[in-house]
Amino acid sequence: RTSISPLRKINKTINSYALAKNKEIETLQKNAAFRREFIADISHELKTPIFAAQGFIHTLLDGAVDDEEVRYKFLKRAAKSLNSLDKLVQDLLTLNQMESGVIKFHFEKFDLKDLILEVIEELEQKAAKRDVLIRFFYDKSKTFVTTADKDKIFRVCQNLISNAIKYNHDGGEVEVILQTNKSQHSVEVKDNGQGIPPEDLKRIFERFYRVEKSRSREKGGTGLGLAIVKHILEAHHSKIAVSSTLGKGSIFSFSLPVEKEKKKESSDK
Ligand code: ADP
Repeated sequence: RTSISPLRKINKTINSYALAKNKEIETLQKNAAFRREFIADISHELKTPIFAAQGFIHTLLDGAVDDEEVRYKFLKRAAKSLNSLDKLVQDLLTLNQMESGVIKFHFEKFDLKDLILEVIEELEQKAAKRDVLIRFFYDKSKTFVTTADKDKIFRVCQNLISNAIKYNHDGGEVEVILQTNKSQHSVEVKDNGQGIPPEDLKRIFERFYRVEKSRSREKGGTGLGLAIVKHILEAHHSKIAVSSTLGKGSIFSFSLPVEKEKKKESSDK
């Protein structure tokens, strides 16, 4: 008696079909808007170093080239702008490949402590230039073996420590703290630099988001570093966490799984 009439049945089907189609259209529109915004952002970011290099070269062509000192200075600046452009294009390619899933991750066993020591060694000169001290804390009696993509985790540590130097004040300090428990190794990168305002904190992982655009560019940033870090850690089923106090400094942290030592077989039964 309470059965639905055929007409109502058809109506119901049509309605749910229309609803699904509407959703599909909405998603397509959102994707198109996202793509437009992305292209606008990229164009703007690419233009900045191109304009700068053009400016220096045109000034040289307009006569500055005759003065040896000015010539050297302007050529150096043009080269620096082209380096930024190169870095930007490389970061864009990396991010694009990660987002489209093209990039392959190669997991291997390695000790996180050794990797962090390598990163610090690479960045020591950069830190010394600003008189920033990097200190690394870990328990020497422990090992920090994990299975992860070594090159990509190198990139994560490099980006976080490099930011801790870049956004620090001259004479500041960076602390890298590596700890371990039964299942996870945790890495903390702590600086006592300028800090990040609370309203910016959740947005710094978005591509091209910077707290102070011009200052960050001046420091050689592409605005893509943390977006890449986030992707890499997601591919490791990990997450990046941040806490910051304006004027006091920031702490970025992430964890990776502890590589279980052969014990498994005996505990299996
Ligand atoms: P960038 O290439 O500009 O450094 P990132 O994606 O690495 O880009 O970082 C995004 C923004 O987050 C930076 O421009 C900067 O404003 C802010 N930021 C990142 N790390 C720190 C830090 N340790 N202290 C203060 N601000 C930071």
